[in-house]
Parts: sequence; C-alpha cells; structure tokens
Amino acid sequence: MAFVFDPTPTPQIAVQGSELNFPVHRIYCVGQNYSDHVKEMGGDPKSSPPVFFSKPADAIVTNNAAVPYASATDNLHYEVELVIALGGGGRNIEPLKAASRIYGYAVGIDFTRRDLQAAAKAKGKPWDTAKGFDASAPISKIQPSENGGLEDGRIWLAVNGETKQEARLSDMIWTVTEIIVELSRYYELKAGDLIFTGTPAGVSAIGVGDRIAAAVENVGEIEFEITAGSTN
Ligand code: MN
Repeated sequence: MAFVFDPTPTPQIAVQGSELNFPVHRIYCVGQNYSDHVKEMGGDPKSSPPVFFSKPADAIVTNNAAVPYASATDNLHYEVELVIALGGGGRNIEPLKAASRIYGYAVGIDFTRRDLQAAAKAKGKPWDTAKGFDASAPISKIQPSENGGLEDGRIWLAVNGETKQEARLSDMIWTVTEIIVELSRYYELKAGDLIFTGTPAGVSAIGVGDRIAAAVENVGEIEFEITAGSTN
C-alpha cells in the first residue's frame, strides 16, 4: 500500500542517557492546576477545578531550538510545566495502576496566545487557536523514571536570567497520578502520549530576542531564544 504523498514523520524526543527516541502520540494539557495561577488569571480555585485541552503532537520544539514568535498575537505568554511521558495507556485507569503507565518526565513550555485565550474565555468559545498552534510546546529531553514516581521538586522559569516562575510540584491541585486517572475517563491513553500538567503563577508576555530558561528539579532543563516569526 502506498501513500498519495509522504506521511509526516512521527514527532520524537531524545531520551536522557539513551540512543533511543520517544515517539509522540498526542499532547494533552491540564489548565488551572496551581491555585496561585488560577488567582492571577482572575479565577477562584475552589470553583474552578482543573480543565483539559490539547495541542497537536507536532507542536513540540526539541533540542533547545529557537522558537519563532507566534503569528496572530500581541500577547504571547510562557507557562513552565512538568510534562508526563506515558509508556503505556488504557481507559479508566485505576489510581494504583496509574504510575505504571509512566515512562518518564520532561520540562515543557505551554506557549499561549493570551489575548486570544481571554477573548475565547469571555465568549465561551474554544481555546484551540490560543493553545494548539505551531511551535507552542518546546520540551526538554525525557528523563526516564524507574517506578513512575516523582517526589516533590522545584519548578522554575527565567527570562533573560530573571526568575519569573518558581514553585513546588507539591503545589499542584491534581497530582500526577490523579491527572492520569482523570484524563483516562475521557480518552484511551496510549504509549507516546505527553501530558502537560499546568503552570504556577508568574506568567507574562515575552518578545523577540528574549531568552527563556526553565527546569524541573531531577527531571531536566530547557533553554532557548524567541526569534522573529516567519511572515509567509
Ligand atoms: Mn498551561
């Protein structure tokens, strides 16, 4: 069987300490998973439980490659997040089995067209153009996890050397395993899925020429520059 044109290659991410790459299936994201970020967005954590949305698998940017400033926005925001990389999946995963589905972790940036997201929120419209755009998901190498577990750790992001976001993973409203359990109620999860787990407070706009560095303790780090976007 031949294709009518060459299929797009599977997006892939280098694995720390390995010659093998991690093939990406889907990218799921959690929104509103840190109380202080819910508050800075004008929400109430008690009445705004975390939400799910998604990005295309080929939105990843790897190897610290430069990220072009997104089109159609005047307010492009960074959001540093712990990313779960699944090595197994399933539907309606039981809490005690969730950790066994984890292959490893990475640190990623959930780039957001904040102006489009605010407009969508105001009118109850979808977030797709605010979240699921090209090059909206820079990600570090994947750090394999032996037993799936990830104890507490520091998560931070700096712009041009100035720390903008800093929190603990223990600040997350839904834990890693709770996210997997909840997400598997809506989707059949599969090996290769990535889950961005939400961002702490301190988000703001960046511009062309800014340099972003971010890390999650015991997981990895990422550093790249924002460059002028293509106009064609
Ligand atoms: Mn986010």
